[in-house]
Amino acid sequence: MKKKKTPMRMCIACREGKPKKELVRIVVQDGELRVDETGKAQGRGAYLCPTVACLDKARKTKAFGRALEQPMSEEAYNAMKRVILRRGIE
Ligand SMILES: [Zn+2]
Repeated sequence: MKKKKTPMRMCIACREGKPKKELVRIVVQDGELRVDETGKAQGRGAYLCPTVACLDKARKTKAFGRALEQPMSEEAYNAMKRVILRRGIE
């Protein structure tokens, strides 16, 4: 069955293209990386699979530093992890 065309985005960790709504958008707010839970936050954003595996990979490869010129702090990492775990997607 052919589906309606959905906007695709690339996860900055695994570089896989996925439908936008299956990824979480990470934005820089107040000099910190945050999950854009509304999908409407202003500013530069990067997309990430909502999995701890991709979050860890993004941290290891410093993907956010490259994509958003904002390194991921321990605090931002923990906050993003909480959001991902809350969503319960693995
Ligand atoms: Zn990914």
